[in-house]
Amino acid sequence: MNPSTSPPDIEPGLNPAEIDAMLDRGVAAAVKYAREHSPFYRRELAGFPEIRGVGDLHLLPITTKHQVSEHNEQFWCVGREKLVDLCTTSGTTGIPTLYPITQADLDRLGHNEFLCFRRVGLSPADLVILAVTIDKCFMAGLAYFEGLRRLGATVVRVGAGSPAMLLSMIERLGPSAVVSVPSFLKRVAAYASQQGCDLAQSTVRKLICIGEPVRNSDWSLTPLGAQISSAWGAQVFSTYGITELAASLCECQAGKGGHLHPQLLHIEILDDAGHPVPDGREGQLVATTIGVQAMPLIRFATGDVTFMTRQPCDCGLSTPRIGPILGRKGQAMKIKGTTVYPAAVQRVLQGLESVIDFLMIATAPTALSDELEILIAWRGDPADAANIVRERLRGELKVCPDVRLATLQEIQSLGDSRELRKQRVFLDRRNHRNLPTG
Ligand SMILES: [Zn+2]
Repeated sequence: MNPSTSPPDIEPGLNPAEIDAMLDRGVAAAVKYAREHSPFYRRELAGFPEIRGVGDLHLLPITTKHQVSEHNEQFWCVGREKLVDLCTTSGTTGIPTLYPITQADLDRLGHNEFLCFRRVGLSPADLVILAVTIDKCFMAGLAYFEGLRRLGATVVRVGAGSPAMLLSMIERLGPSAVVSVPSFLKRVAAYASQQGCDLAQSTVRKLICIGEPVRNSDWSLTPLGAQISSAWGAQVFSTYGITELAASLCECQAGKGGHLHPQLLHIEILDDAGHPVPDGREGQLVATTIGVQAMPLIRFATGDVTFMTRQPCDCGLSTPRIGPILGRKGQAMKIKGTTVYPAAVQRVLQGLESVIDFLMIATAPTALSDELEILIAWRGDPADAANIVRERLRGELKVCPDVRLATLQEIQSLGDSRELRKQRVFLDRRNHRNLPTG
């Protein structure tokens, strides 16, 4: 696809062979375009063969987050005069990485979200609250706005700051859906119940969740997903997206994984050695953007661990789907012989009603074993809190980390990060690694 033309407007109800053909064309064009226009790829891919489709892609090297951060503007394919917006990603060097977008890129982002919102059953009749960050150089908020505008729905940009404002807008406007981060939706539910307001009686029927998984690998809701679904009396939809993909994968009504848009993105799931894993098996998500004009990425290693399925979905689409993000590569901890991801610990903690906030701190006293300390801000009687948390973790994950009660202030100041748009929940202090990992 030529990045300057709009992507196809209809979600393809294609069969697997047609999807493969679409991916082949998209990947071949994306690599050709990046080689012609990006100084980084011109240099990096010199000497590598021509890529005719997905089957050739393994011949090219992986693009790492570190490279994108280190050679940031070398990736750009257009001059600054073509840009309509500059987003940032968290970066790996402490300085946020710039992610530029052109008008065509903005259209592409909007189209991606249009497909997602339509798939969850929204229409021009819907009034949708965006309870997400829409400034701070954040791409997603902008993309959601564009997608809903294309759909013809009415958008109310409440933002993610104030449960009181969200609640008041729900009462005044009667929205049918809210787009937000699950932990914020949980906070709003707690606030509403303090105010004597039953959210399940509100008009909101769909919660489009971003940033944190709300499903387990078997598609059941995580404790957090189940809590918000029940508190809001609403259907929960999981989505996955990161800035560098300039796309998101969103569930349909069947709730069995995020659908890929083959006209916008190609994904691979690779093991630690860089080989593809069979469908259903977990590995790192590696993505090639299709149709991106300003900063296309070829075989970009996201660091996110998930799995893919190509089984036809209950909704009738045959597009590949990804499972929930199970963790981040490099973050897996080995605690007394058991491997566990911070994301799994997070899921358990988020499921405990009395946990107001938490922070995980990993250290590595020896090369063979990691240790995890969890700081907990607890609502109610603290006497048995540490034991309750430890027992729950032992029961669900077979690990028994140190648990210490802390104040909300202590947790928030330790987790505070200038370069991230959100509070950190995991500090990695192994091997002096202290990367901003969210
Ligand atoms: Zn589906």
